[in-house]
Amino acid sequence: MKLQSINPKTHQPLGDVLPESSFADIDLAVKKSKKAFASWSISTGEQRANFLERLATSLEAHREALVERADQESSLGLARLNGELDRTCFQLRHFGKLAKKGQPFKYAEDPAVSGAPPLGHPALLKLRVPLGPVAVFAASNFPFAFSVLGGDSASALAAGCTVVIKGHPAHPQLTIDTLKLIDAVQKELHLEGVITLIQGHAFEIGHHLIEHPLISAGAFTGSTRGGAALQAKANGRARPIPFYGELGSINPIVALHEALAGHEKELATTLAASIVLGCGQFCTSPGVVLLIDEPSQKASNDVFVSELSAALNVQNPHAMLTAGIRHAFSTGVENFVHAGAQKLVDASTEAIDPRPFLGSVNATKFISNDKLREEVFGPACLIVRCVDTQQAEDALHAVGGSLTVTLWGADEKTVRNTSLVRASMSIAGRVLFKGVPTGVAVSAGQQHGGPWPSSTTPLTTSVGDDALDRFLRPVALQDYPLWLDSSKGQPI
Ligand code: NAP
Repeated sequence: MKLQSINPKTHQPLGDVLPESSFADIDLAVKKSKKAFASWSISTGEQRANFLERLATSLEAHREALVERADQESSLGLARLNGELDRTCFQLRHFGKLAKKGQPFKYAEDPAVSGAPPLGHPALLKLRVPLGPVAVFAASNFPFAFSVLGGDSASALAAGCTVVIKGHPAHPQLTIDTLKLIDAVQKELHLEGVITLIQGHAFEIGHHLIEHPLISAGAFTGSTRGGAALQAKANGRARPIPFYGELGSINPIVALHEALAGHEKELATTLAASIVLGCGQFCTSPGVVLLIDEPSQKASNDVFVSELSAALNVQNPHAMLTAGIRHAFSTGVENFVHAGAQKLVDASTEAIDPRPFLGSVNATKFISNDKLREEVFGPACLIVRCVDTQQAEDALHAVGGSLTVTLWGADEKTVRNTSLVRASMSIAGRVLFKGVPTGVAVSAGQQHGGPWPSSTTPLTTSVGDDALDRFLRPVALQDYPLWLDSSKGQPI
């Protein structure tokens, strides 16, 4: 089968037809990866940092051409894509630094204690070993930061794993351009096979990869439906493997009166910009705003909603990533309306560039109809009117799992605020008290991943330092010989 790059602004073919990987190509890529794993898994932190640094330098050296290609295939714009390339290089270097500082080689030492158990025990040394070749599924909406050399690849490589990347068919030319740079660096450093790539549009390609017996883990960024299908394949193998899926999310904002009163316009403007950012194609895009209509607060809530409608009405989002995503956006909005959402800003247009959508429902409907709690990937948001705080909490619990919850106006320690913070923490990986959820800092304190349906493994993060730990497995060495002392802080 063939792969065709498509111009998202016209939905017309862009450039040459490209070959799609066959099952034989996938087998070859995985075998190369397994072979490279034998030496990469025992590389030092310095070697890993050097490889990641060289990849970042190469991306930067070819910035202009890469960003232009990414824009042709994604329509995300040069400013955004330049910023994303910066973030990607930062991530590569950051994980390199962590490898150099010894994070993959962390150990726990437990000297022998004489006497009868349970107090007495043998000498134990707990180390971590890299899992093996990791299948990395690139996302469409981050052609750099969650694609070929994105966070999953950077963290797996720093952990000592090799990676087999399934490129995203929304940017196949950029994927090939990036691979050429990778191959040049790999050749120079004699690291052939540490990163390999497959491409294609058929789901069977991804299934074949995740089911390959030499693959040891999967890292996926994409839709909840796609993640669920691949997770089922990972679990259904003769030898199931860990599968880290970062999926879709609706990211509720609870806008309390304390924040809104007197700031309706300012907050509405900030929120409208976040809803249309990147044409709403962010996993952290705010999809729901909960307003608590206690009698003294309803007027301010109404002002906020009308300011938000006005701010969204003048927005002109750019083209979406693919014709499929554009079609799914219209269908998602229609589903909202069909499920009872009242249109405040009407998105109906046949044009390639979508219009934003703002709808309104009462919380009773929102809680009882799961169609209103589905992610609509694109510039869409629902206002949910709650009668009191308890109903707002019920609405959060109905969402069940989200990458983020944003709580505006909980600055004072009160019984109500404590309860709302607890409800938010119970469903989200990240709780914000200021600003908007779009934009995810890459740092030690970050958590990107929440309960289902926002991720398959909420115990881990795909952004921030701990992302590396997903690809390491603990092993305890009991009554180990002295020569293994050297493995403290170094690979064996
Ligand atoms: P997608 O349509 O799920 O595609 C991601 C990858 O999964 C593609 O390679 C796709 O292959 C493959 N895939 C999808 N369904 C599959 C199936 N049933 N079996 C095998 N492979 C399958 O998602 P996307 O368009 O890249 O991104 C949009 C979604 O990603 C949104 O829901 C967004 O919220 C989410 N996202 C989440 C995060 C996060 O960190 N949580 C970050 C970015 C995006 P094909 O392309 O061949 O279909």
